[in-house]
Amino acid sequence: MDECVFCKIVAGELPADICYRDEELIAFPDINPLAPIHLLIIPRKHIPSLIDLSESESSLVGDMAGIANQLAKGEGIAETGYRLVINCGRQGGQGVSHLHMHLLGGRQLSSALG
Ligand code: 5GP
Ligand code: ZN
Repeated sequence: MDECVFCKIVAGELPADICYRDEELIAFPDINPLAPIHLLIIPRKHIPSLIDLSESESSLVGDMAGIANQLAKGEGIAETGYRLVINCGRQGGQGVSHLHMHLLGGRQLSSALG
């Protein structure tokens, strides 16, 4: 976890423009935005990937989606629409091994998913 960039953001050791925080989650803009709105919602706890979520932690994903909805409303894209993405594992396109949800919006997104 020492080398995990998202753990470092949680710890305040790497800068990020945190736009949401609570006891369990934080959110901040993606450093390489793929859309006008591109936020990452992450748990404070280091969970490497979606597949590593224990049964008792599964509600975390619902909480992440709820915060994403709230952020989408705040960003003014709730009506126009947005996309939530969790990449899992190498072939799923996951580059950072700390569970995160992408919130993408503010432009027409491609209907192609892969
Ligand atoms: P993944 O490909 O793992 O689903 O998404 C990881 C995302 O994290 C990428 O979109 C990448 O741009 C973003 N990212 C990687 N390092 C940093 C960082 O240090 N700060 C921020 N804000 N985003 C990062
Ligand atoms: Zn981490």
